[in-house]
Amino acid sequence: MTTLANHYPLYTPEAFQTETAEPSYWRASAKPLKQESPSLTNDIQVDVAIVGAGFTGLNAAYALAVLHGMNVAVIDAGEIGAGASGRNGGFCCIGGTAYDGLEQVKHLGLEEALAINRIERRAVDHVRALCEQLDIDVDRSEQGELYLAHKPKRFAEFDDAAAESKKIFGANLSVLTNDQLNDRGYGNQAYYGGLLGGPDYGLHPLKYIRGLADRLMALGVPIYQNSRCTQWTQSQGKHRLITDSGSIEADKVIFATNGYTPEGMIDELSQRIMPLLSSIRVTRPLTEDEITAQNWRRTTCAFDSRIMLNYFRLLPDNRVLWGGRGGTSFSEGAFNRAQRELDNAFNATFTHWKTVDVDYRWRGFVCFTGSQTPFVGEFRPNAYTSLGYHGNGVAMASWCGQAIAQQIVNSEDRHFTPKSFTKLPNKMSFMGMRQPLVKAAYLGYKFSDRWL
Ligand SMILES: Cc1cc2nc3c(=O)[nH]c(=O)nc-3n(C[C@H](O)[C@H](O)[C@H](O)COP(=O)(O)OP(=O)(O)OC[C@H]3O[C@@H](n4cnc5c(N)ncnc54)[C@H](O)[C@@H]3O)c2cc1C
Repeated sequence: MTTLANHYPLYTPEAFQTETAEPSYWRASAKPLKQESPSLTNDIQVDVAIVGAGFTGLNAAYALAVLHGMNVAVIDAGEIGAGASGRNGGFCCIGGTAYDGLEQVKHLGLEEALAINRIERRAVDHVRALCEQLDIDVDRSEQGELYLAHKPKRFAEFDDAAAESKKIFGANLSVLTNDQLNDRGYGNQAYYGGLLGGPDYGLHPLKYIRGLADRLMALGVPIYQNSRCTQWTQSQGKHRLITDSGSIEADKVIFATNGYTPEGMIDELSQRIMPLLSSIRVTRPLTEDEITAQNWRRTTCAFDSRIMLNYFRLLPDNRVLWGGRGGTSFSEGAFNRAQRELDNAFNATFTHWKTVDVDYRWRGFVCFTGSQTPFVGEFRPNAYTSLGYHGNGVAMASWCGQAIAQQIVNSEDRHFTPKSFTKLPNKMSFMGMRQPLVKAAYLGYKFSDRWL
């Protein structure tokens, strides 16, 4: 169906193609799959067909096939993890809505904020437990997350934030000045202090998703790479997903396509989701002398208090991963501009590493919704989706993948899914104006980050 969004796409169509792999550090450093994952070349029938082999799709497949014995098949337009799941920063962290914990109380009410916080924590534990259970080595970094104040004014708010988080969520967060951060091996030239704590950790996202795919395929769950669903039809209670060289007939389908959901494919989601670009750069491995000069030697996941935030982590092989927003268009020029902004922010933070070469640069889509929360549910009879993790999908997409499986197995069981996640996201206004509106919003955020 033709929608307004088709007439005024936010990005050019090649932005959504995942057939060509993004040249990320993760791809250069993960082992290949243990067994071949071919494309779909015939017509098959299953109980549940899943579109998208990322964290959502493969966690749903695992829960349905392994825990509930259903007949499942997964297809992906590119390789396993071709979307955001193979391109992210690897922060396995609390999050998933557009709000932080305390804002959730303000916007969604105390009861719902507590329900979401419970799920966010379980999501982080779920990934750890799944990887341990399936013996997937994901190069887990040290536990905790560091939230850094980019202005003295932000740092002044940290004592209250820590106290409130303790009172409401039982969180144990330490407030540290920049000198105290320095003493703990978090030396930097840009911040005014931080909040440290939490169950969060970093991981190698492609090792996680490929490890999970290997396990699924070993258990007989087919995952077809390079198999884009080009058409989706329904008749006589069955769904049919058609690719260029085969098809799947299924009783139920899950679209696990998040920020790569093709515009116009799911009418019910039209105007309700917004893909936004995030960019990453990764340096060459630092020498021991370079690490000593800067005195940042911890592998804790870190991010800052800007609206246009920077996120970064020292990787286990002493490279530094640094990420941030990725611009408002998919053009080469926009990519280069976004990367220059990352370079400038990195250089201002780690003045001793200014001249260190950058080995990898890439980008990908995160997905926002009109309701500022993920959506996990059935949008048409026997057609489900889970998406909209607001840049926090390593843990949350993994959790929501099994939550959508749970809804399929027992539609009455909402234990897995906070109430606000089950409502179709609100429509966003002015869809035809998305490109200039996002540009204007980013300018406003940058102004606010700098001057307010
Ligand atoms: C640069 C970047 C950094 C990020 N950093 C973090 C982070 O540090 N921590 C964190 O928690 N989150 C992070 N995220 C977000 C996180 O990666 C995502 O929320 C998560 O990976 C979403 O997983 P998913 O399985 O739902 O979707 P995806 O991994 O995006 O998978 C969707 C899949 O659908 C496939 N697909 C789409 N259309 C079709 C079709 N028609 N037919 C077949 N297949 C199709 C795509 O090929 C793709 O593989 C980051 C994202 C990006 C882009």
